[in-house]
Amino acid sequence: MEFTSDLKQLISVPQNVAICSHRNPDGDAIGSSLAMQHYLEQYGHTVHVLFPSEYPEEFEVLPGATDILIWDIHTEECKHVLHKKNLFIFLDFNAYNRIDKMGDFIRPLPGKRIMIDHHLYPEPIADHMFSEPEASSTCELIYRFISGLGDSMKISPAIGKCLYTGIVTDTGSFRHATNPQIFRIVADLVERGLDDTSVQDMIFNSQKEKNLRLLGHCLSNRMEYWPEYRTAMIWLSKKDYEQFNIQRGDTEGIVNYLLSIREVKLAVFIHNQPSIVKLSMRSKGDLDVQAICRKHFNGGGHKNASGAYSHDSLKATIEKFKALLPEYKTELLR
Ligand code: 5GP
Ligand code: MN
Repeated sequence: MEFTSDLKQLISVPQNVAICSHRNPDGDAIGSSLAMQHYLEQYGHTVHVLFPSEYPEEFEVLPGATDILIWDIHTEECKHVLHKKNLFIFLDFNAYNRIDKMGDFIRPLPGKRIMIDHHLYPEPIADHMFSEPEASSTCELIYRFISGLGDSMKISPAIGKCLYTGIVTDTGSFRHATNPQIFRIVADLVERGLDDTSVQDMIFNSQKEKNLRLLGHCLSNRMEYWPEYRTAMIWLSKKDYEQFNIQRGDTEGIVNYLLSIREVKLAVFIHNQPSIVKLSMRSKGDLDVQAICRKHFNGGGHKNASGAYSHDSLKATIEKFKALLPEYKTELLR
């Protein structure tokens, strides 16, 4: 990370700041945004965090979460707030289309932009771009951003809690995308007062009964496995959405269960959300799901965790996915 004097000036002199992250915000999106907010507020900045859509309910307990503005719900307030901003900080995404209509609104606004992200193929959307696809999470990058600016002592237990949330969720509890540095970072956060078990409880032990029943339904009735392609799928229909009263965040993590089958290399979760069909792909090893999502479904993400949307029907999307498998057979069986 390189810090120009221009950037240092932006951070150390109070600005009117908007921190934005992507649609369907996950633990890394919300953790990095709130950590950055708490850091900047120590410099006297006026900060709002804005997301295009709602975040999963379990993250409500993170410090500052309930003040986040959601474009889908508070559109007019978001517009009003954004108009006054002179610094935009984009976290955990790297292209305007990941923030939809909010992106269309922000694009023509004046003001400086900083982007901090770890997804592949960034678009040039900021004056200061910190794009590191090798990083475990945007939260890792926020830690390095703050310490790189010589501000480690500003990392409070509250900031630690937000950062640890993104690190745990984006590494699947240190199962993938790790590096030596990330373990040192976590040790430092704990030394600075982070209560790590409270974060684990927030993420993993705060499910509702209906979520466990939904998981049971997915594994018993909605799972398909093609051993000849080392691929497994779970799908959910609109009817399932109604029957299980599925809300934001309720399907988070379901795709990962497929990877727990030893032979599975490619896992996909295809679900018919109320207005769109969403795909989530995960892989083990060298298999690049980012390339698959990008090439066939106009999506993206990381090599082992990517997503996309489809305007086709659920059935057509599933058929399209199945029809792709022969093309990847060599990679799948390698
Ligand atoms: P998930 O499957 O959990 O929604 O997303 C996995 C990863 O892929 C995340 O890093 C997410 O930001 C990214 N991702 C999900 N959906 C899309 C999409 O439609 N387009 C792009 N470019 N990335 C996506
Ligand atoms: Mn992330």
